[in-house]
Amino acid sequence: MPYVEVAVDAPVGPGRTFSYSVPQNLSLEPGQLVWVPFGRRILQGVVMELADAPQVEVTRDVLQPVEPSPVLSSAHLRLSQWLSRYYLCSLFTAVGLMLPPGFEARVRSRVTSQGRPSGDSALRPETQEALKQLDGKAFLNEAEFVKLLGRPGERELARLVEKGYVDRRVDLPRPSVSPKYRCFLAPAPASGAEEEEGLPSRQRALLTAIRSSGEAYSASSANKAFGHGVARALVDRGMVAMDWVREDTTPYVTAGEQETEHQEPPLTLTTGQAGALDQIHAVLNDPLATPRSFLLHGVTGSGKTEVYLRAIQTVVDRGDQAIFLVPEISLTPQTLERVNQRFPGRVAVLHSGLTQRQKFDRWWEIRDGAYDVVVGPRSSLFAPLPRLGLIVIDEEHEWTYKQEESHPLYHARSAALELSRLTGAVVLMGSATPDVETYQHARRGGHWLLELPRRIPHPDRTENLCQTHDQELATVEICDMRRELREGNRSIFSVKLAGYIEDCLRKNQQTILFLNRRGSTPIVQCRDCGYVATCSRCSVSLTYHSANSRLVCHRCNRRSRMPRRCRECSGEHIRQLGIGTQKVVDAVMERFPGARVDRWDADTTRSGSGPSEVMAKLTSGETQVLVGTQMVAKGLDIPNVTLVGVILADVGLFVPDFRSGERNFGLLCQVAGRAGRGASPGKVVIQTYRPSHYAVVAAAAQDYAALFDQELKARHEMGNPPYNRLAHLVWQDTNGDVCQRRAAAMASQLRQEAYAQGLTDVQVIGPAPGIPARLRGKHRWHILLRGRNLHRFLEDIQFPPGCTVDMDPVHVL
Ligand code: ADP
Ligand code: ZN
Repeated sequence: MPYVEVAVDAPVGPGRTFSYSVPQNLSLEPGQLVWVPFGRRILQGVVMELADAPQVEVTRDVLQPVEPSPVLSSAHLRLSQWLSRYYLCSLFTAVGLMLPPGFEARVRSRVTSQGRPSGDSALRPETQEALKQLDGKAFLNEAEFVKLLGRPGERELARLVEKGYVDRRVDLPRPSVSPKYRCFLAPAPASGAEEEEGLPSRQRALLTAIRSSGEAYSASSANKAFGHGVARALVDRGMVAMDWVREDTTPYVTAGEQETEHQEPPLTLTTGQAGALDQIHAVLNDPLATPRSFLLHGVTGSGKTEVYLRAIQTVVDRGDQAIFLVPEISLTPQTLERVNQRFPGRVAVLHSGLTQRQKFDRWWEIRDGAYDVVVGPRSSLFAPLPRLGLIVIDEEHEWTYKQEESHPLYHARSAALELSRLTGAVVLMGSATPDVETYQHARRGGHWLLELPRRIPHPDRTENLCQTHDQELATVEICDMRRELREGNRSIFSVKLAGYIEDCLRKNQQTILFLNRRGSTPIVQCRDCGYVATCSRCSVSLTYHSANSRLVCHRCNRRSRMPRRCRECSGEHIRQLGIGTQKVVDAVMERFPGARVDRWDADTTRSGSGPSEVMAKLTSGETQVLVGTQMVAKGLDIPNVTLVGVILADVGLFVPDFRSGERNFGLLCQVAGRAGRGASPGKVVIQTYRPSHYAVVAAAAQDYAALFDQELKARHEMGNPPYNRLAHLVWQDTNGDVCQRRAAAMASQLRQEAYAQGLTDVQVIGPAPGIPARLRGKHRWHILLRGRNLHRFLEDIQFPPGCTVDMDPVHVL
């Protein structure tokens, strides 16, 4: 008898499958979605492989397939296996990423009465009563019936089934979404003229309408225009035929019908671009070449997107397909447009705005080969392209590539590299400010490293023909806010920035004022010297808790009093840091009366006006000064913006996360890149109390190499990635004490375990309260694990419910 190994939709350990026997009348293939009995329940599962022998002696039968054919390819099955083991989640959770949307379904179980010998006196009175109620009905849902049985209802039900008094039957539902059809009307070939004469007027009118309409005439428009039943009557008379067509399927050209001459873009590649593409083509054309991944490092505007598009073109020309990952669909309209233009009608864009139905249809179309290119956020990596040749990851350093809210907590970059190992597809990552770990890996030969150091000059900018690095980019000035304070300037604008804003307003050019808020935590800083209160043990900044005026280390939980004087300079201007968007807006209006100011932050995004309105007002020039948070840093390309002011670079720089320096460097570079994209050169002012901070200095010089060297040194000193792996363990509970106790118990268990295994390189750091310490009413405590071979260490550890394990976390707060 043949067997299958099934990944079941149940909370089980990583990589775990269960053996089932295949009944004679079924033939199953790997990748098929099936219904299987599991304990007392019936669950979905995916057939991972066929087997000659089961893992256990007694097996149960697979009940039936959900779909007649496999929904997962063998590459995707193997990718799920990797995801499950790497990110420590159940195999089915991993598989779930690759299933068509809307396939998750739960069975309903019904109980019906089978009659019984009257007065079985062995039955409990509750049972008798429950059976009486059931007799009067066609059926009851299992849950309802069990409730009637009282306790222990489940066992009582099993007994009744065994005795044959009741029957339990499960409904195996179809997927919640399934292909939908639309009905079209067409005139039947032969209908006699006399018969038409005798038609009621509405039927005759409809017939005429159907005949005269050049294209398919839908039944729904017939109903709307002529009333219900009119079309039906014509169909009954045999004068009109119905034609059912699957809805939402966009007609597409197959590879053979594709136009042979595609319009080459009129650009001549720069030598940098051409060189990069040569290397990419060499690997694309040689299936044995390794590594199969590239890191394209180039400042904003250096022509990376053009390189992506040409690489995709090569893959498409040979009949293969590409995935183009972007950090966030809504922030990349310009990139989307360019992809669509280059491959008209051949691009599927996946985004969260699609309905379940649309996602479902898109999934099947992609699987049918309807598209050459799939563009979308991280989950698009799992699109079922039959001939995947290339995966582009734009802005590879963005943390949105990591799934943080729901399992599996995967990183799309790591998953893409694994998919490349499984399929041979080439991975092309690009960034102006690559992730330090990616860059280090590339330097060591793990990826091909491609550099595009120059911005492509704007065609109207003649003075840039000399093409020195400095002239292409905006000029960046660091403004020392300590000095401003010493010189008596207490405003949030330095003298310099205020002067530039005034200039800008006069010339009718636009200004962006940037305020970092992301994950900003209340830190304590000295305004005289810029010193930030830091934990001496953990080298992360301390967080100010206003409730008890304490400083807390969110790594090791050490607490201290709010200092009265600065530890470095003994100054008394030491206080909490932080400023809101509205305060900046008010300051602009007060300082520059009459200036047209707008703001863009998370609140704007949530509230009515919305980003498109903000964008429209900025593009049209109505807005003169835009105040915003991270939103303004991304992708804005407004030629008339010539000034960018960073109100306070220190906020966010001292988030107690070892990546805060790297992240803020990236952010500052990105913001700086918003200035001077048009004909006039741009200016950037970075205000800070710590003008010597390496991330600020490197960002001002737009010097990635400097940032990289400093960062790598710091990572080495602290033993952070890439020198070690991290796992972030988070407990959440409505009860703070319980939460802390559980985390503490786990921490000591982990320490003992590491000691017992002789793993001296595994560090258990914490527990400490998370940031935020409470989230949606639940307290959070966390532990950080650091070590070289964490997977081996964690393999045998059972994590209790309530604890989340995040491998390679991008946030450790
Ligand atoms: P990035 O993706 O690095 O930000 P883009 O590919 O968007 O850079 O290029 C920046 C601008 O330069 C775009 O407007 C693009 O059309 C243009 N561009 C790209 N390559 C060339 C080229 N070889 N010659 C002229 N203009 C180019
Ligand atoms: Zn500490």
